[in-house]
Amino acid sequence: MPPIAPTITATAPRVSTTPVETRNLWDEVVASVRAEYMSEVQNYPWIIGFSGGKDSTVVAQAVFEALLQVPPSWRKRHVHVVSNDTLVESPLVIAHLTKMQMTLREMADSLRLPVTVATTRPAADKTFWTLLIGKGYPSPNQTMRWCTDRLKIQPTSRYILGNVSAHGSAIVVLGVRLDESKSRRNSINKFQNLANSNLTPHSELRGAFIYRPIVHLTIDDVWEILGEREPPWGSTHRDLIQLYRDAAGGECPVVLSTDEAAGCGTSNSRFGCWTCTVVEKDKSLQGIVTSGNHRFSALIEFRQWLRNIRNDPRYRSVERRNGEIRFNPRGELIQHVPGPFTIQARKMILDKLLTTQGMYGDTLISADEIEQIHAIWADEISRPIKQRGERNE
Ligand code: SF4
Repeated sequence: MPPIAPTITATAPRVSTTPVETRNLWDEVVASVRAEYMSEVQNYPWIIGFSGGKDSTVVAQAVFEALLQVPPSWRKRHVHVVSNDTLVESPLVIAHLTKMQMTLREMADSLRLPVTVATTRPAADKTFWTLLIGKGYPSPNQTMRWCTDRLKIQPTSRYILGNVSAHGSAIVVLGVRLDESKSRRNSINKFQNLANSNLTPHSELRGAFIYRPIVHLTIDDVWEILGEREPPWGSTHRDLIQLYRDAAGGECPVVLSTDEAAGCGTSNSRFGCWTCTVVEKDKSLQGIVTSGNHRFSALIEFRQWLRNIRNDPRYRSVERRNGEIRFNPRGELIQHVPGPFTIQARKMILDKLLTTQGMYGDTLISADEIEQIHAIWADEISRPIKQRGERNE
C-alpha cells in the first residue's frame, strides 16, 4: 500500500537578491523541511541523495538544521544520507565526499540524531572496469551509455528498495532545482505532487516517493546560502566552493532513474566519472590540472586515449558477445556494427591503465576488479560462445 500523503505543505519561495532576503529564504526552506519531517508520514524513512555537490549539500544542511529544531523525542523518522561511489569518481570529488561523510557521521553520532550515512557502489561484476576491460564493452558514448544504469541507478535503487521493503515505503530527498536545466525541468514537471503533499511518486521504484525541498531555489540562491550560512556540522563551505572554482563548473548529480540518465556525462555534468568518454573533453579534470594539480594529467591523457580507440576497428571484434554479426541500415548502405573490444585490446587497456596508475600514484583499479577481469577472460577463452550463453550486449 502506498503511504498516506502528508497534510502539511510548504513550498520554498522563489527568488532572493540580498543577504537579508537570503536569510529569510533559508529560514523558510528549513521551516518547510521541518514541517515535512514532522508530517503525518512519520515512519517512512528519508533517503537524501548526497553527491557532495552544492545542491545536495544545501539539502543536507536544511535537513540537519531542521532536525536540530525538532525536540529529540519527536525525531521519529530515520534519515539516510546516501552517496553513490561509481569507483571511477573524479578523485578530488570523492575525496571531498568522503570527508563530508565522515563529518556528517561524527555530528549525527555526537548529537544522537537518527541519521545513517551510507555509500552505495556497483556490484563487483558490474563496475566500469569489469565491464569495459573484462567483458570488452566499448567505451561509453551518447548512443551506448551502458554505465549510468549499472554504476549509478542500480546501486541507489537497491538501497531505496531495501528501505521500501523494510518500512513499506521510503521518501527520497533530492536537491534538484527547476532552473538547473531544461531536461531537469521537464523531468520535475513530468510528475505531479500527490494531492495536498510535497511528494511525487518515484517514476520507476514502486513504493518510493520523491521530496524536493529546494526545487524553486535559483543557482544564485544556492551559492548565496553556501557563502553565507555556516553548516551545522561546523567549519564553512569554503572547500566545496573552491572545488567548483578549480573544476570550472558543473557536477554529475544524483541519478535515480532512466529519465534523468540523459544528463549524466554531458557538458552539464563535469563532475562525473573521471573515465567518462561520453563528454568530448573532461573540463573538470582539466580545470583541476590548470589550477595546479598536475598529477591528474595522466588521467586526462588516459581518458582521451580510451575515447579515441573506441571506434578503431582493429580493437573491436567482428562478432557481438552472443556470437551474432550485426548489420544496421544506414541510408542506402548497410553498416557493420562492431562487437566488444577484442581480448588483445582489453589486455592493452589494462596494461595502459596500470601504467597510468603508476604515474598517478594512487589506486585506479582494485585488485578485486583485476581478479574478476582475469576470471571473465579465462571463461571467454576456454568456452565457446554457445556454452557461455551470453546475452546480446
Ligand atoms: S559520468 Fe559518464 S561514465 Fe559516469 S555514469 Fe555518467 S555517462 Fe557513464
